[in-house]
Amino acid sequence: MDKILIVEDELAIAELEKDYLELSGFEVDIETNGSIGLKKALHEEYNLIILDLMLPDMDGFDICKKIRNEKNIPIIMVSAKKDDIDKIRGLGLGADDYMTKPFSPSELVARVKAHLARYERLVGSGVKENDIIEIRGLKIDKTARRVFLHDEEKIFTTKEFDLLCFLAENPNHVYSKDELFREIWDMESIGDIATVTVHIKKIREKIEYNTSKPQYIETIWGVGYRFKV
Ligand code: CA
Repeated sequence: MDKILIVEDELAIAELEKDYLELSGFEVDIETNGSIGLKKALHEEYNLIILDLMLPDMDGFDICKKIRNEKNIPIIMVSAKKDDIDKIRGLGLGADDYMTKPFSPSELVARVKAHLARYERLVGSGVKENDIIEIRGLKIDKTARRVFLHDEEKIFTTKEFDLLCFLAENPNHVYSKDELFREIWDMESIGDIATVTVHIKKIREKIEYNTSKPQYIETIWGVGYRFKV
């Protein structure tokens, strides 16, 4: 049976969600305290987390980030403020879905089911966890050579994929354009290293929320690029 953790300080809302989910056959725990909720999410076996953004002791942003650093399970974030949804997306915390309160409990159940089904397909398809690089909402599936940003697939050319993958596999390491050119294009820098710049630009357009303030691939002026973790 799939086990769900609801981290929510408004008990009436949590109880309502729990009732609906239990009626659909899920096992549900409620935690009203943020830091205890985080501990449970990390150390107990849940299949999905429903996480409220505004909690008295610790906010949902931090909790989401910390769960995502260690676990791949679906996280649905809920908030009473519509504006928060953009903020959550912008921060790239790796949440799988966002809902604004008030929402209908049956809508929640439908989304829970969809996320669990997708997650089970992913796990069941034999994709090994080490073949997927996942950083702040960006998922690079090395086996299938596919890239997802908040679960939305982004189409990459072969070289764009190789370049992104190389940088992400070697995070926080600064590479010059020359080095990247040799690494990805496999030639002794005979070609034009401006190719690297062009490819970085294209990658950013696909994965960055704001290309002038990149959160994944940083430009280190006069040196090169690095993938920030
Ligand atoms: Ca709350």
